[in-house]
Amino acid sequence: MADFPGSLPELIRRFPDAAACADWLIRQRWPAGFVCPACGGAKAWRLAAKAHTFECAGCGRQTSVTAGTLMHGSKLPLTLWFQAAFLFATHSNGMSAVQLKEMLGLGSYKTAWLLLAKLRRAMVAPGRQPLAGFVEVDETYIPLRRKDEPPAGGFGRSSQGKICIAGAVEFVDAGPRRIRLAPITDASTNSLAGFVAGAVARGAQMKTDGWSAYGAIPDVKHDPHVIGPMAAHILLPWTHRIFANLKRWALGVYHGLRAKHLQSYLDEFTFRFNRRRNRHAAFQSLFKIAAAANPVTYNMLIKPEPTG
Ligand SMILES: [Zn+2]
Repeated sequence: MADFPGSLPELIRRFPDAAACADWLIRQRWPAGFVCPACGGAKAWRLAAKAHTFECAGCGRQTSVTAGTLMHGSKLPLTLWFQAAFLFATHSNGMSAVQLKEMLGLGSYKTAWLLLAKLRRAMVAPGRQPLAGFVEVDETYIPLRRKDEPPAGGFGRSSQGKICIAGAVEFVDAGPRRIRLAPITDASTNSLAGFVAGAVARGAQMKTDGWSAYGAIPDVKHDPHVIGPMAAHILLPWTHRIFANLKRWALGVYHGLRAKHLQSYLDEFTFRFNRRRNRHAAFQSLFKIAAAANPVTYNMLIKPEPTG
C-alpha cells in the first residue's frame, strides 16, 4: 500500500518522534500483522517498557521492529534514519556523506558515511526481476577516484585508472524503463556473459554494438549492430545516455567513485533511475527493503566489494 510522505514538511509533521517512526515501520515490516521471526507465531504483545518491541505469545522471544533489519543496533534515533532516507531517496542526485553530515547536523563524517552505506544496501530489492523485452547492453570505462583523495573531493582526477562497467537498459518505444549496472573485469565474453546472466531475462532481445563477445552469450536473442561509421549514441541511445549521466553524477556528487565500493554506488544510481517517476514512493521502498535486509556491521561495509 502506498504510504509515504510527499514532502519535507509532511515528513516532519508525520514523524516527529521515534514512536511515530516505529508505528509506520511496524506496518511496513508486518503489513498483515506481527510474525515472530523465531517461531512464526502471530500472537504477540507490544511491550510497554521497551520501545517498539513485541513479545511472542508462543515462544516468548522479544523482537523490536528494527531487530534483524538494516537498522539493527543503530544508535541513531529513528527520526534521523527517516530524515536521511527521505533526503537520500527523494533527491534527484542523492548526496555525499559530507553533505548529509551538514544537512542533518551529524556528529561525524563516519556516522554519515555509515548511514548512507547502510541505506545503499537497501537499494537492491530482493527478488527483483531481470530486464526483459528489448534490452540494450553496452560497456564503458569510468575514471576512478584516487585513493588518497579526501572524501570531500579534490582537484585532481583519477590517476588510478579506469574501470570497465557493463550496463543494460530495458526500453520500449517511448524510452528507457529499468536499468542495471555492474563493474566487470574486462569486455571479454566471460565477463559480459556473467553480467547478462544476472541482469537480463532469458529470451530477451538484446541490442548491442556488435562486439563479438556479445554474440557468444547464450540464452538471449542477439541483435548486433556493427557500428562502422555510425556513432554509438545513435545506435545505442539509452545506454549511451545512462553512461553519460552516471559519469556526470559520479563526478558531481562524489568527485569520482572508488573501486572498493563501486557496486553499491552503481546500485544507488540504478535505484534512483528506476524510481525516477516516483521519488517519494522510493522512500517507502527503501524502508521495505531495509526491513527485510540483514543487519550489516561497519566492518562488513568497509570490505572491498567483488567485481566480476
Ligand atoms: Zn515466537
